[in-house]
Amino acid sequence: MSIRRSGSYTVQKKSKGKPNGKKPASEEKKLYLEPEYTRVRVTDVEFKQLVTLPQEIDLNEWLASNVTTFFNHINLQYSTISEFCTGETCQTMAACNTQYYWYDERGKKLKCTAPQYIDFVMSSVQKLVTDEDVFPTKYGREFPSSFESLIKKICRYLFHVLAHIYSAHFKEITALELHGHLNTLFIHFLLFVREFSLLDPKETSILDDLSEVLFSEENREAVGATGEAQNHVKER
Ligand SMILES: [Zn+2]
Repeated sequence: MSIRRSGSYTVQKKSKGKPNGKKPASEEKKLYLEPEYTRVRVTDVEFKQLVTLPQEIDLNEWLASNVTTFFNHINLQYSTISEFCTGETCQTMAACNTQYYWYDERGKKLKCTAPQYIDFVMSSVQKLVTDEDVFPTKYGREFPSSFESLIKKICRYLFHVLAHIYSAHFKEITALELHGHLNTLFIHFLLFVREFSLLDPKETSILDDLSEVLFSEENREAVGATGEAQNHVKER
């Protein structure tokens, strides 16, 4: 079996003339930068320790297991708002003024809506992480030489999905009170890709304003103020 290399993409800035005359979400107030939301996390865990390669673990094993977990979590996070992400609400795969295009295996640019693009992402990543030739789980099997580039490709796709959720569906996320989960996942994911240089900083720059805020609050919390996390449960 050979590795499938379908689905590359390029990033282009949106043209000024918008077909539907609607303002992109990012030109409106960025809800996800509001302190009442950026402060929320679901855990106090030290993420830096979480992403560091443990001494006795093989790097590829570490990348494979973490990226598979990120894929599952991002897929799950998207599924919570997918009913609001339709061909009508999200006619193109946009995130913070950036437009993503999907290319088929022959390099043909596909016109697709955000839910279609995300479906392409999820199904192609699913195919990769369950392909024993790419993500070997059996003893004695080796990772392919293209493993690192495939991991980077998966991380780029997953980042696009996260960026779309933040820029187009954050309101729904807050209505479901899932912003703590999304922030936690985003911090963990970004620290991980930075730790192993899996994404070009240019790629993630569209959410630099968010990561700056989240990481500064992360540091603040690390310095102190974990008091709130303490449970005052009385034992009987
Ligand atoms: Zn959408």
